[in-house]
Amino acid sequence: MAKYEKLIPRFLEYVTTETRSDENATTSPSTQTQVVFLHKLMDDLKEIGLSDVKYNESNGYVTALLPSNIDKKVPTMGFLSHVDTADFNAKGVKPQIVENYDGESIIKLDEAGKFVLDPQEFPNMKNYKGQTLITTDGSTLLGSDDKSGVAEIMTAMDFLVQHPEIKHGDIKIGFGPDEEIGTGADHFDAKDFAADFAYTMDGGPIGQLEYETFNAAAMKVDIQGKNVHPSEAKDIMVNALQVAVDFQNALPSDEVPEKTDGRQGFYHLLSLEGTVDEAHMAYIIRDFERDGLEERKAFAAKVADQMNAKYGEGRVVATIKDQYYNMAEVLKDHMDVVELAKDAMEAVGIKPLIEPVRGGTDGSKISFMGIPTPNIFAGAENMHGRYEFVSVETMEKAVDTMLKMNDLNVERN
Ligand SMILES: [Zn+2]
Repeated sequence: MAKYEKLIPRFLEYVTTETRSDENATTSPSTQTQVVFLHKLMDDLKEIGLSDVKYNESNGYVTALLPSNIDKKVPTMGFLSHVDTADFNAKGVKPQIVENYDGESIIKLDEAGKFVLDPQEFPNMKNYKGQTLITTDGSTLLGSDDKSGVAEIMTAMDFLVQHPEIKHGDIKIGFGPDEEIGTGADHFDAKDFAADFAYTMDGGPIGQLEYETFNAAAMKVDIQGKNVHPSEAKDIMVNALQVAVDFQNALPSDEVPEKTDGRQGFYHLLSLEGTVDEAHMAYIIRDFERDGLEERKAFAAKVADQMNAKYGEGRVVATIKDQYYNMAEVLKDHMDVVELAKDAMEAVGIKPLIEPVRGGTDGSKISFMGIPTPNIFAGAENMHGRYEFVSVETMEKAVDTMLKMNDLNVERN
């Protein structure tokens, strides 16, 4: 008998609903499938018995309230997750269930065994001996990122409604779109959400607790060449592609994702396209320190200036836009929010794994909007592709953690 009866049925239902986001869309949410799914979640929230269930037209968030059942005023806690899935086939997800995994066998995803989960290749599989794993059939991603978070939040709220003897304050729920394309939380309405602090249930393996993220900027480099016939090109032609190559080579060659880890930042060339006449490059720039990000941005701008000095003004235009900042800047003044999660994990027998995220979370943006929002494990492993899997036991522990955080919030305030 499962600990939370509906946790896995809910999860399996959610992952088989396609909700891939689309970076090239001009609408928000980026895809209609997300809107449909968000409305389905509203039905589930109402069925569970939550209040103020609404779809916010302005930002595509579904929000809801579990009203306090005690007299004393305790801080309002929020839980958030995103409904979209990453840039990988998400049509026709067929979850496979592997019970009592032995921690060493190869798991065939498709019937023919073209795609397999092999512990030699994925040593993280060895952590799941004796557990029930949910995998893909090799043709899609699973969408545990972040349908696990959605199912866990739903389950925790259901549990609190079913157990009115458990004391709780106001708890706010938010399910949002387009995390994977980095735009969903831009439109988050912190004032309307009105939580004192919140958690995104969007981390990976058990114990993950994240409150430090990169500072992030995006850079576009547009290069205008001068194209003349190669026979007459001497001292006249400016080959935009060559300028692009020179620009890339002027950046520190060791400060790239494939050569950095831990707390090191980088410049990452995402795309380069062009002709002799013009070229376009897209970069992301990352650094854990805010000063470090500013220094990197200034360095890239200086490279562009130097090239303009050489080839003529306006040949190289670098446009740099900040994307999000390290939420530790906010959380350092709200470490009780981190402590609450850490203590809750320990109380339910989990060893917290606190590490800086070499990326961002929706919580990075939301924290800067005034709601400190660390990220907690939801369970997904090997996210964003066909090798994604999640363990049932980890998902149950995520629900345990949320319920314990509620207990501690009531006890401590
Ligand atoms: Zn996610």
